[in-house]
Formats: sequence, structure tokens, C-alpha cells
Amino acid sequence: MTAPMSDEEPALRRDIIETARALPREGLTKGTSGNVSARWGGGFLVTPSGVPYDALREEMIVPMDLDGGYRGDFLPSSEWRMHLDIYRANETAGAVVHCHSPRATALSCLRRPIPAFHYMVAVAGGDTIECADYATFGTAELSEKMIAALGTRLACLLANHGQIAYGPTLAKALWLAGEVEALADQYLSALIAGEPVLLPAEEMERVLKKFSSYGKQADEIAQGETPAFDMPAKRGE
Ligand code: 13P
Ligand code: ZN
Repeated sequence: MTAPMSDEEPALRRDIIETARALPREGLTKGTSGNVSARWGGGFLVTPSGVPYDALREEMIVPMDLDGGYRGDFLPSSEWRMHLDIYRANETAGAVVHCHSPRATALSCLRRPIPAFHYMVAVAGGDTIECADYATFGTAELSEKMIAALGTRLACLLANHGQIAYGPTLAKALWLAGEVEALADQYLSALIAGEPVLLPAEEMERVLKKFSSYGKQADEIAQGETPAFDMPAKRGE
């Protein structure tokens, strides 16, 4: 028997559909490639396998537990293991976006990680964005290789396949997938023109520290935290 839905579950199902539909709209995927999930209860809700984004309806979103079980009439995304393994490995993971965005996928076919050619590489939480070794789509092997490539980062490329990104919310996971795509685009453009100059490890460490306070207002920055930029002098009202 299917468990009754709580009040918030339909809203989360709608948010997952909205996020999934943003992928083709923002040029981050085509057809039925890619999938989206959000942590829910003791498990997560994930898009069904092989359903075009336009055709998604609330009742097609599949509830899964963290032991690999699903409920309902629709099969979960073939990549359910990658989603499940991210939620298992990272308490802070609230949502996962996988897509075949064109530039990240092109780089993944070269099996090239994104090095520190631009400071924004730090948005994924490290000084590189790694490329997971190749494994067939929809396998536990692919998920293992993804977990290894992620390490403590929030995104990685998947060899000859695409990219995956996660974050505390659907909006943040989608945003990060867009950032990875933009970085892949910039890196490929720089490679066409020459050999990009890489930022040294100390500089990336500095940027990573600044990123912990970037986007926060003055009263949200904890004591001892490195401010994201040189603070201007605050004048009277
Ligand atoms: P699903 O339609 O099963 O989610 O698969 C799409 C995909 O990107 C497989 O890697
Ligand atoms: Zn895929």
C-alpha cells in the first residue's frame, strides 16, 4: 500500500518538476537525459526514468528509501544509485542534479578534470572539479567512481557522460550545475586559444575561505570567518 502524502510532499514534488524542466530551458540537457532528486523523510524523491520533462506529473515522482527501495507505479531514474549514494555520504546534501550539459559533457569525453584556471572553480568546494572514471550509465560502478571523484566536493564530471552536482536545496544544486557548465565552457574556450594559466594552490585556498562568507550579509558572518572581500567603511544612516 502507498503511504499517505504529508502536506509538504506535493509541493516538493512540484519543485522537483520545476527544477527538472529548468534543465532543458537553461540549455543544460536535452531529451530525457538527466535527473533530479530532493531529500525527503528518511530517503528522497527522484524523477522517473525515461519520462520527457514536459510530460512529468506530480504522481510520477518516485519516493525511495536509503536502502534502495522505491514505492509507487513508476520506476525511479536509472541513476538512482548516484542520488542515493550522495545522500548517504553527505548529511548536508538536500538535492541532486545530474545532466548532460554540452560543455561539461565535451570535457568529460576528453576525460579532463577542470583545473584551477579560474577562481570560480572553488564553487564546487575544491581547487579542481574532477572527472570520474568511466562506467556504464545506471550502474553501482558508476556511482562508486562518482563518489571517489567527488571527494569532499559538491560536483564532478562523469567520463563520456556528463556532470552531477548537489547542494542543500534544489535551487542551489541547479545553480551549481549551471556554474559547472559555465566553467567547462570557459575552460574549453581558453584551451582553444592556448594553455590557460592555473592559479596556485595558496590562492585557491584563499578563495575557498572567502567563499564560506560570500553572499552573506554583515550580521551573518561569524567571528573569525574570512570576509569575502575588503569591507567598505559603513557610514551613518
Ligand atoms: P533516466 O531517464 O533514467 O533518469 O536517465 C537519464 C540519464 O541521464 C542516465 O544517465
Ligand atoms: Zn546521464
